[in-house]
Amino acid sequence: MKEKIIEVNNLQTSFYTHLGEVQAVRGVSFNVAKGEVLGIVGESGSGKSVTSMSIMKLVSYPGKIKSGEILFRGEDLAKKTDKEMLSVRGDKISMIFQDPMTSLNPVYTIGNQIIEAIIRHQNVGKDEAREKAIEMLKLVGIPSPEERIDNYPHEFSGGMRQRAMIAIALSCEPDLLIADEPTTALDVTIQAQIMELLKELKNKVDTSIILITHDLGVVADTCDKIIVMYGGLVMERGSAQEIFYTPKHPYTMGLMKSIPRLDAGDDGRLIPIPGTPPDLIKPPTGCPFSARCPYAMKICTQEMPGYTKFGEGNEAACWLLHKDAPEVEVDTGVVRGDVNAK
Ligand code: SF4
Repeated sequence: MKEKIIEVNNLQTSFYTHLGEVQAVRGVSFNVAKGEVLGIVGESGSGKSVTSMSIMKLVSYPGKIKSGEILFRGEDLAKKTDKEMLSVRGDKISMIFQDPMTSLNPVYTIGNQIIEAIIRHQNVGKDEAREKAIEMLKLVGIPSPEERIDNYPHEFSGGMRQRAMIAIALSCEPDLLIADEPTTALDVTIQAQIMELLKELKNKVDTSIILITHDLGVVADTCDKIIVMYGGLVMERGSAQEIFYTPKHPYTMGLMKSIPRLDAGDDGRLIPIPGTPPDLIKPPTGCPFSARCPYAMKICTQEMPGYTKFGEGNEAACWLLHKDAPEVEVDTGVVRGDVNAK
């Protein structure tokens, strides 16, 4: 069994606003093993980004980690001070964001920014750091890295800037890379290239990756396992195979129907999920998806369903999966594959 790099247990993070407590993350658990890629998928407001910011302890005021454990190689990050976290961020855990332009410093060359990261985290001199920076640019697929290293961020395209950010993040040789919507600001072709790059890097550098996205389609062949979040809770978890070919939760099925796919055929229309996410100041007592779920029953609004397990690491929280639930024909949104959601 592979070593667990990070284990999050019952994480709860809230924002204490003048309107009340926004319960953004309401008890989330997962783990990521060495070299594994975990996808955290959900719409905006599902709690996925707050989960990643909690791991980095970058939740800013009025937000606060309320409870839970964030065990990073056995040490609880939730208990670390801001000062102690300085040696974790960048060094052991790196993060890349949606818009690389906000993370890159426009007045320094790309090379200087990578070299600075290398010198700060590895015991090397300036010349060796420059060599390593060129190697990193080559690793992330920047053409003519020996010349491009002296370019400024504005001289790079959006896709190249994201590649440069990935190079900076990896230059610290982190155990864990968190990529929060890394392709959202990029056009579709570049998105595919960046995802391909992350997939290649997973094999080359053995870094564990948490990939956060609103787009289930993005994680299809990059992630080993996926958690689907909604209303601050995990609705379903499983291997990428299980989530894509046998989704069990109506919310996952809804996300499936909203992915553009080549194999969908002529009638493969994209169907957005109607409605809006729940108010997390007063989260619903029952299933958070009940107001938007086409299969909602009376009990769904009254009580939160427990998790039904389907195998190791595959489970979903839905009353339809309860042994006493009525037989309902569900549209899983899966185009191919032998699917039976019950
Ligand atoms: Fe829909 Fe009920 Fe299942 Fe929630 S518990 S997803 S409302 S059927």
